[in-house]
Formats: sequence, C-alpha cells, structure tokens
Amino acid sequence: MLTSDSTYPHPNEPVDAEPQFDGEACGLTLSCPEADLFVPDGEEPRAALARTTHLGIVAHQDDLEIAAYHGIAECYQQADRWFAGVVLTDGGGSPRTGRYAKHSDSEMRAVRRREQRKAAVVGEYGAVLQLGWASSVVKRGDTGLVTDELRQLLLLTRPEVVYLHNPTDRHDTHVACFWRAMEALRSLPAEARPRRVYGCEVWRKLDWLVAADKQLLRVDQHPNLALPLVGVFDSQIVGGKRYDLAEDGLRRANATYFDSHTTDGATQLSFAMDLTPLVINPSLDISEFTLGFVDRLRADVEERLHRYGPGSSYVG
Ligand SMILES: [Zn+2]
Repeated sequence: MLTSDSTYPHPNEPVDAEPQFDGEACGLTLSCPEADLFVPDGEEPRAALARTTHLGIVAHQDDLEIAAYHGIAECYQQADRWFAGVVLTDGGGSPRTGRYAKHSDSEMRAVRRREQRKAAVVGEYGAVLQLGWASSVVKRGDTGLVTDELRQLLLLTRPEVVYLHNPTDRHDTHVACFWRAMEALRSLPAEARPRRVYGCEVWRKLDWLVAADKQLLRVDQHPNLALPLVGVFDSQIVGGKRYDLAEDGLRRANATYFDSHTTDGATQLSFAMDLTPLVINPSLDISEFTLGFVDRLRADVEERLHRYGPGSSYVG
C-alpha cells in the first residue's frame, strides 16, 4: 500500500548506489573512497574504458548530459563509437529541495551517484567514472591530485574527441574543472592527444561568440533521447528548475537564431569553443586565448555600431 511518507530510495530502485571501483581491474589509481566506475553493459572495466572514442570531463552529475550531449548523441547505438564520461565532484554540495530537502551530504552523494548511473544506462554510455572529489580539492591548482587521475584516464581511454567546460563559464567549479582537464591534456605525449577538444555550454551559454568562433554541434539525431537523459536527475529538477526543458529549448533556439538569412539546416544545435589549439600547443597562454573570444565580440559590436552611427553613409 502506498503512503504519503513512503521511504526513499524506493525498494524497487533498479540502480545500485554503493560506490564500486576496482583499480586493478581498470588500471587506474584513484584516491577517493567513493570513486565509482559504472559500465552499463557489463563489459570488463579496462576494455570498457579502452573502447572510448568520445570523452566528457565535467564537474558535476548532470553536466555531461548538458555540456557533452553531442558526444552522447554521436555514440548512441553506434557499434564503433563509445561515449565515456568523468565527473570530478561527489555531489555532496548539491542544492536540495522537496523530498530531498532533509538529505544529509552523504545521502545526497548517494542520490547523485545513482542518478548519474541511471543517465549512463539511458544514454548507453561505454562507462561513467565518478572521481568523488570535494569541489574544494578540484579548485586547488597546487596539488596535482585531480590532474593526475585525469591524465591516467586519458591515457587509458585515448579519446578522439573531448568535451570540457568552456573557460568563460561563470560557475567557479566548472572553471576549475576546465583547468584540471587542460593540465592533464597538455601533459599527454603528442600521440595520445585527442583530435578535437571542445569547450561547451552549461552556466555560460555561447551564443555570444562571433560566428567564426562558433563550433556548431548538431544534436538533433535522436530527438527522443535528450529529455529523458536530463530528466533522470530528479533531485535537481524537483525544485522547479526544468533543466530538461531548458536544454531542449536552448538547442532549438540555437539552431533557429544562428543565421537570420537561411532556413534551419539543423533543428537542434549546441555551440562550443574549439579548444584544440591549447592542447596541440601547450605554450599558448590560456587566459590570452580565452580573452581573444571576448575581444572579437567587442570588435564585432564596435564595428557594427560605428557602421550605422551618426553621419554614416554605409549602405548594405
Ligand atoms: Zn555543474
């Protein structure tokens, strides 16, 4: 019989919440006791990681499904492509409302871990690795702890395409995650570098990039996948923040507003920065490279304003 105060988790909960990680089985040395590797199809851990072609490296549970959705969709039900995701933090600092309001940090970590595993099932990921760090550790640029684990993972997975937070994101932990990932990528030998590295949208969307700087990632190949993928993160949506609907709307808006002169080639687009040059050339200054995008926006606004200002005779 159902009661209004039924306990959580529901006894029929299909996805285990206990962290599971066997370093020997996958060839990784990780520090956090709550590190968790989940392989939805049960493939042997080392083989599951080695088959990766597209890798997302993000701060929080549900960031993969927002930032790296292009990689997930590219690999979905493809025999020769596998998406793997790594989430750096443990979810203990997550906002909580509704029936999660009274959860302790420890209970919240279990909820977030389970939700991330569910998303991996829905999206048919090759693997998802939750490193289990506190945000405060990820934010430190002087320990090398997180960077070392990401380097190990990159050497095991050898992805062709990598999705990161973009360096202009306005969430502090996302920017820190970008740095740790970039440090790891830059430490790789040339033959282990990915072919392409994207900086993706979460807490700062990238419509502001000038057209020449916009990487257009087409994400309309599985229109039935996007909503349920973000929708499994019940603990983040239950308070009223409909990230599932917001992402669907954003991707449609991106496609519609990209170009005022043409009809939509794609019905859904994500925008990204091309961060590949930072990895190919580790001597490039990361701040200067990032501010270059901002400078080009400034020049674009300035030029258009002047073109049509008082006394202008421009026709076009
Ligand atoms: Zn996040």
